[in-house]
Amino acid sequence: MTKRAVIVGAGIAGLSAALRLHRAGWEPIVVERSPGRRSGGYAVTFAGLGYDAAERMGVLPELQQRHISPDDMHYVRPDGTTRFTVPGETVRALLSRRALNLLRGDIEDVLHRAVRDHADIRFGTTVTSIEQNTHGVEATLSDGSTETADLLIGADGLHSHTRALVFGPERNHLLDLDHVVGVFMLDRRPDGLAEGATASLTSKGRTLAVISLGDDRAAAFFGFRTDDVARDLAAGPHTTLPRVFGDLGWFTPDMLDRLRTADSVYYDTLSQVVLDRWSSGRVVLLGDAAWCVTLFAGYGSSLAVGGADLLGTALEDQPDITTALARWEADLRPEVRRKQKLGRRVKGLYAPADPFRLWLRDLPLRTAALPPVSRLLKRRLQLAG
Ligand SMILES: Cc1cc2nc3c(=O)[nH]c(=O)nc-3n(C[C@H](O)[C@H](O)[C@H](O)COP(=O)(O)OP(=O)(O)OC[C@H]3O[C@@H](n4cnc5c(N)ncnc54)[C@H](O)[C@@H]3O)c2cc1C
Repeated sequence: MTKRAVIVGAGIAGLSAALRLHRAGWEPIVVERSPGRRSGGYAVTFAGLGYDAAERMGVLPELQQRHISPDDMHYVRPDGTTRFTVPGETVRALLSRRALNLLRGDIEDVLHRAVRDHADIRFGTTVTSIEQNTHGVEATLSDGSTETADLLIGADGLHSHTRALVFGPERNHLLDLDHVVGVFMLDRRPDGLAEGATASLTSKGRTLAVISLGDDRAAAFFGFRTDDVARDLAAGPHTTLPRVFGDLGWFTPDMLDRLRTADSVYYDTLSQVVLDRWSSGRVVLLGDAAWCVTLFAGYGSSLAVGGADLLGTALEDQPDITTALARWEADLRPEVRRKQKLGRRVKGLYAPADPFRLWLRDLPLRTAALPPVSRLLKRRLQLAG
């Protein structure tokens, strides 16, 4: 009999799981809280496990078409003058050959196109309760219907409702990294920022980056260190970002102005998810819901796709579901542990409060910007190409 999976969340993890399980002969049902597909988001580096998995799942060519080739990275002072620039060819050389620079929304779009005819995707729907026994799992949905399945996958992100229903309250599983980020797409690239370029300013525990994403698209990226995450989240981006960044100078007034009319703003704490087990019986968590490594690790979308692919392989190889889940977790944990550790290390470098730490943070980039090093990297790129 065909096995069924209820997947909560149609983000990168949920859609990857739906695609991979369909390929494994399962029937996926995806419930997504949002009324429709989300787009845009922010740019992510997509590499490693995720890149390899995308290749196996047959979506790599479509992802490659969406790659945004990065160009010069400018590090500026509050008065707008340039501290140093890492040239585009060096930036590209630093990006591994098996890595892509993608909009989060583009990854979702590619996955959605690949799976939409093979999965029952229900937007504007969530799960309200979960019951399980040795034979199956029953999910009650927000439209009042119930679905019985062999497996329920909670791929509903950092603030997972599935995790709260099955593993207990969020506060027991979040490790706060004392930073808040606010990201939004700009309606047009700011004057003074060349196509493909990124410019960023770090001062006193705050970073503002303005990123050109090709085709006149661009994004603003605010991130800051805080000693009161709860207060800053509760106040929301439209109050908190002007309060924290108001005196920063450079592009800041323009970006804060555009924040007021931005379509949608990603605004959240940087927190890792730490759980002893990612599954309980026939319920398993996947992606940020299970292990959020944060943007400091730059690897969450790669882990979401790679984790979904490995999950599909484990379920194909092992008919007993709980055994398959245990094997999958044992295979994936070491990589997640490494990336969470990296995320915690990078935390201190992201927006250093004192100028000396900032100088130390930038030292490798300054070195990469030196003409001889830059030439060497450029040569490496040409040889690799
Ligand atoms: C600013 C920023 C930069 C990043 N940079 C990188 C990077 O360079 N490289 C990288 O690999 N990763 C990066 N990441 C991380 C990456 O974006 C995430 O790890 C990845 O998108 C997680 O995907 P997900 O599907 O697990 O969760 P999400 O993207 O959060 O998706 C969860 C989905 O579930 C839905 N949902 C939520 N609650 C419910 C519910 N109750 N019922 C039904 N549906 C629900 C949501 O609407 C959403 O569609 C970055 C993240 C941020 C914020």
